[in-house]
Amino acid sequence: MSGLRRNAFSQASSFLALLLLLEGVMFSSSSPPSWPLDKVFQYIDLHQDEFVQTLKEWVAVKSDSLQPVPRFRKELFLMMAMATDKLQRLGAEVDSVDLGSQQLPGGQSLPIPPIILAHLGNDPKKPTVCFYGHLDVQSAHQDDGWLTDPYTLMEVDGKLYGRGATDNKGPVLAWINAVSTFRALEQDLPVNIKFILEGMEEAGSIALEELIRKEKDRFFSSVDYIVISDNLWLSKRKPALTYGTRGNSYFLVKVKCRDQDFHSGTFGGILNEPVADLVALLGSLVDSSGHILIPGIYDQVAPLTEEEKEMYEAIDLDLEQYRSSSQVEKFLFDTKEEILMHLWRYPSLSIHGIEGAFDKPGTKTVIPGWVTGKFSIRLVPHMNVSMVEKQVKQHLEDVFSKRNSSNQMAISMVLGVQPWIANTNDTQYLAAKRAIRTVFGTEPDMIQDGSSIPIAKLFQDIIQKSVMMLPLGAVDDGEHSQNEKINRWNYIEGSKLFAAFFLEMAKLH
Ligand SMILES: [Zn+2]
Repeated sequence: MSGLRRNAFSQASSFLALLLLLEGVMFSSSSPPSWPLDKVFQYIDLHQDEFVQTLKEWVAVKSDSLQPVPRFRKELFLMMAMATDKLQRLGAEVDSVDLGSQQLPGGQSLPIPPIILAHLGNDPKKPTVCFYGHLDVQSAHQDDGWLTDPYTLMEVDGKLYGRGATDNKGPVLAWINAVSTFRALEQDLPVNIKFILEGMEEAGSIALEELIRKEKDRFFSSVDYIVISDNLWLSKRKPALTYGTRGNSYFLVKVKCRDQDFHSGTFGGILNEPVADLVALLGSLVDSSGHILIPGIYDQVAPLTEEEKEMYEAIDLDLEQYRSSSQVEKFLFDTKEEILMHLWRYPSLSIHGIEGAFDKPGTKTVIPGWVTGKFSIRLVPHMNVSMVEKQVKQHLEDVFSKRNSSNQMAISMVLGVQPWIANTNDTQYLAAKRAIRTVFGTEPDMIQDGSSIPIAKLFQDIIQKSVMMLPLGAVDDGEHSQNEKINRWNYIEGSKLFAAFFLEMAKLH
């Protein structure tokens, strides 16, 4: 892309940012929230310490689903029981669904924590919004580099540090805070509310898909919209709305001569070597500009629309800061728009590793007898997992047959996750945009996620209702890592955001 266009882009985006800023200022000064939202906001502000206290109690439960040991499983059951109790106190009808047990590789088994299905209100005139969240967390130990005990919520400079604070206990509680505020003010809930809360998300959501299928025509039959709040904004201060995630297809390609390795002094020169075959295969997948070389792979990629282009231009991303915080000297692309598009709306191919190759220090003169290459393709709308599988296999077979190698090659796709994309003109997206304007005085960044989050696609496919991701956490919250936190501001304003969202949904539905 030429320097001229780059300039035009950045000028346009800074002009837009200025406009948004002006609009934000004008909005927040000229139209304060009207009743009952002003009362709702006031209540949330006045009760914020109570809301933080509840988060503290929830963070204190070591609901680690990754370590399959009875001690943590007990904590998970306790966590689900606390949430059940909390929802019942709000007047919700709660069904805590028993899911049997999980078989572990060692032969033992552990009980799976129940999934909570809850509902509040069933007025046929109101829309029904179902909130998905999870109450399990990634493992955390203070000696991993936590500055404080990960299970004791600590507030430092407005940041609430603790495991699960942002992923996902804080956002779940923010939704509950919003509901409880209407309750406390004896206000009619503007929408019917449903909850689906699980305790095994970090461990691959065991049993969730089966339950959603089973409940499709029961619990979910009245659900109109699904909201997930389990990802982050793109920036520290500007809210975002997420409308898509990339899928993924993961491949193994094995090239084999025999099971044992060879000595290069004894066999070097008279063999087709598996590593040489594999390097040629892997080398045929993607060029140095990141373009995937598999024939036909771009055929199904959705064309870029004008409307979409504008969304990218409006996004708030400091490229220089992004580059330096990633410690990357130079990306493949120079503009914010190109970088975001190649993370979100174009496929990418990554080579992950080679199993069976000599990877230790030293100079062992080995010829590996077999090697397995591992690579994956991040999929975007409207690519299809099985079509991609076919194209990859065909391409590798073509490349391999041209080498005339006497080795055997076997290709398998071991993981296939479809991409997810929502219609940003759905009612709930419009309602969320309005709520964000009211609470934060700005338009949201309309973002996608380059990673694969299967849950949204799962709901969309099985229930066939609109799914929206409405994140509350800031980009630096550090989910899954040491010193995970949620800002008090995000948690409290997030509770307001959900309350404002309920009211907007009632108006728009
Ligand atoms: Zn999460």
